[in-house]
Amino acid sequence: MTAKQMTMTKVEQDAMRAVTDHACALHAAGRAIVFTAAVVLDGQVIATARNEVSDSDDPSRHAEVVAIAQAAKAAGDRDLSGATLLASCQPCEMCLATMRWAGIGRVIFAAQQENIADTYFRFPKLKISDFHAACDRAFDFFGGVQEERVAHIYAAKGDA
Ligand SMILES: [Zn+2]
Repeated sequence: MTAKQMTMTKVEQDAMRAVTDHACALHAAGRAIVFTAAVVLDGQVIATARNEVSDSDDPSRHAEVVAIAQAAKAAGDRDLSGATLLASCQPCEMCLATMRWAGIGRVIFAAQQENIADTYFRFPKLKISDFHAACDRAFDFFGGVQEERVAHIYAAKGDA
């Protein structure tokens, strides 16, 4: 599922490789909740993160939210227009909203909603295409990038 075929920059390709490597390493280490993310701005990776929900008992600490917060801090600006969000799994509703609040108009992810359990989403009947349409296509999305590298992580019913 893609809004349109996006061309990834070399930096984005490398960042995505790092994001999926990070997820695979966490999974191999036996971590129960494995989601990773990064933010690229101006041709540089300015944030990398993993899901911190179980570390913090904060249900909002999804990898994408953590990465966006780190990126805003690094950039010294909560407006991250021009940035790209990369994630090991399709961002959930909360993360898509956070992305939009940060002005990010580009998201690339590996595992796609239709290939993983509904349990990863709290509004599973809403698809990313619905969010895309609901904001008049204010962002571009590209799913399934390196999906085969993380498919084993999300194959089982999980707990986000
Ligand atoms: Zn999320």
